[in-house]
Amino acid sequence: MDFSISEKMQTILGMMKEFVEKELIPLEPEFLTKNTSSLLPVIAEKQKMVKQMELWAPNHPKEFGGMGLNLVEHGLVSETLGGSMLGFLVFGCQAPDAGNIEILHQYGTDEQKETWLRPLVDGQIRSCFSMTEVDMPGSNPVMLDTTAVKEGDDYVINGHKWYTSSADGAKFAIVMAVTDPDASPYMRASMIIVPTDTPGFNHVRNIPVMGHAGDDYFSHAEILYQSCRVPQKNLLGPEGHGFIIAQDRLGPGRIHHCMRWIGICNRVFDLMCHRAITRVIAPGKTLASKQIIQSWIAECAAEIRAARLMVLHTAWTIENKGVKEARQDISLIKFMVANTMQKVIDRALQVHGGLGMTDDTIISFFYRHERAARIYDGADEVHKVSVARRILREYEGKTVK
Ligand SMILES: Cc1cc2nc3c(=O)[nH]c(=O)nc-3n(C[C@H](O)[C@H](O)[C@H](O)COP(=O)(O)OP(=O)(O)OC[C@H]3O[C@@H](n4cnc5c(N)ncnc54)[C@H](O)[C@@H]3O)c2cc1C
Repeated sequence: MDFSISEKMQTILGMMKEFVEKELIPLEPEFLTKNTSSLLPVIAEKQKMVKQMELWAPNHPKEFGGMGLNLVEHGLVSETLGGSMLGFLVFGCQAPDAGNIEILHQYGTDEQKETWLRPLVDGQIRSCFSMTEVDMPGSNPVMLDTTAVKEGDDYVINGHKWYTSSADGAKFAIVMAVTDPDASPYMRASMIIVPTDTPGFNHVRNIPVMGHAGDDYFSHAEILYQSCRVPQKNLLGPEGHGFIIAQDRLGPGRIHHCMRWIGICNRVFDLMCHRAITRVIAPGKTLASKQIIQSWIAECAAEIRAARLMVLHTAWTIENKGVKEARQDISLIKFMVANTMQKVIDRALQVHGGLGMTDDTIISFFYRHERAARIYDGADEVHKVSVARRILREYEGKTVK
C-alpha cells in the first residue's frame, strides 16, 4: 500500500482544513445552544461557499455533481471534515444521505435517479433510512415486523420504526419492509422509497438521546407507518433484495464513519494537549508535568495512529479487492475505532475537569453523540462474534505447534 498523498489531494485537504477551522468551528457554539432549524440559512450559506470552491459532495458521482473521489481519498476527507460537528453536512457528504445516494446510484431506476438522487446529491433535499424497529432487535435485522403488501399498483406499508436519523425535515425515507414473509430470511425484505409527506408516514417524535431530542438534521425519529401507500415503482432494486442492498450500503459507510471518528479523535486530542500545557495545577506546574497525563497523551497518540492506519488499509482493500475481501477488516475497524474514539474523548474530557462537562468546549457534544458509535452499524459485540467465528473457522482441522 502506497501511503503517499497525491498533490491534488493535498491541495483539497488543505483547503478543507482551512475552511473547517475558519468557517465551521467558530459556528459550533451557536449550534450547541440553538435549534438547528433556526440555523438552516447559515448552513445553506456555508454550503454555497463550498460549492463555489468546487469541494461539494466529495464522495459522490461526478455525473450527479459530486467530486467522484475514491474511498481512500474520501477517507482522508472524512478525517479532515470529521473534526467539526458541521463538516460532513456543510460539504454534502453526511450520513444517512451518503448511503442512500450510493444505493440510489447503484440500484435506482432512471426516474428514481432524476426525482430523488439528483436533488439529494445537490443538497436541495435530505433523506433518511428507516430500518430499525422499536420491538425488534436491530442486531438481527432479519427479524422485521414492518410489512409492505401489494394492493393494485401500490405497496401498503405498516410498521413501527425508530432511530430513523434525520427524518425531521427529510423529503423521503428509504424503508426496509417485508414483502414476502414466506421467502428465506435474507430474501424476505425490500427497500422502498417513501416520500415523507405520504399520508400514513407519521412522525411520532424526535427521540431524546442523552438528554437532547435535537431537531432537523441532528435528530433521530420514531416513525409509525400506518397504511402508508406508495406506488410499486418506488421499489428500490429487485424485490426481496433489501438485505443484499443493505450490505452494499454499509461497507463504504463504515469507512466514512471510522475516518470521521479519527477526525474527532484528532480534534479532542489537540484540545487535551493544549489544556495539559496551559492548565496550571500548582505554582510553576501544569497538568502536562504529571506522568499520568503524559501516559494518556502517548497512549492516545499511538492508538489514534494505529486506528487510522487500519481504516486506511481497509479502505484500500475495498477499493482494490472489493467489499467481500475486506469483510473481516470492516468488522475490526468498526468496533476498534469506535472504542478508541470513546477512550480518547473520555480522557480529553477528564483532562478538562469540570470544563469538560460543560458545552463550553466541543468535547461534551462528542461524548454524548458518539457513544452511539458502539451501537449503530452493528454493535461491538456483533462484530466481535462475527470476526471471532471467521478466525476460529480457519483453525478447524489445523495442527498448530
Ligand atoms: C444514534 C443512532 C442512530 C441510528 N440511526 C439509524 C438510522 O438512521 N436508521 C436505522 O434504521 N437505524 C438506526 N439506528 C439503529 C441501530 O442500527 C440499532 O440501534 C442497532 O442495530 C442495534 O439494534 P438495537 O438497538 O435494536 O439493539 P439490540 O439488537 O436489541 O441489541 C442490544 C445489545 O445486545 C447485544 N447484542 C445484540 N446481538 C448480539 C449478539 N449476536 N451477540 C452478542 N451480543 C449481542 C449488543 O451489546 C447490543 O448493543 C441508530 C441507532 C443509534 C443509537
